[in-house]
Amino acid sequence: MEFLAVGFLVAIITSFVCGLFCSHLAIEKGYSSGVWFAIGFFTWILGVIAAAGLPDKKLREIFRNNIPTHTPGTPSKRVKPAAPDPDTWVCGQCFRVNPNSEDECYHCQTKRKD
Ligand SMILES: [Zn+2]
Repeated sequence: MEFLAVGFLVAIITSFVCGLFCSHLAIEKGYSSGVWFAIGFFTWILGVIAAAGLPDKKLREIFRNNIPTHTPGTPSKRVKPAAPDPDTWVCGQCFRVNPNSEDECYHCQTKRKD
């Protein structure tokens, strides 16, 4: 009887740990934590493996929003950043920072325009 009780306790703890793992992975990847807690709770290691293999929705969203779909021959949609300090200027061609003492980009040799 005592053996059964210990076994039951171990099973419940394992279920909770697997549920928490799944839930954590699901949250990190942008899925429902409740659904994935239940999956982990009932399927143990199989649920954890399934959650680990889920595609990362959050990362996909970031890539979708940040990588411009660039068509060759059209100007890039990148926005020229502001110079980090008053003694510098940002190249309109390569967006790198140059000192004000230079009239030509140090990196790509484009003439300063602003
Ligand atoms: Zn440049």
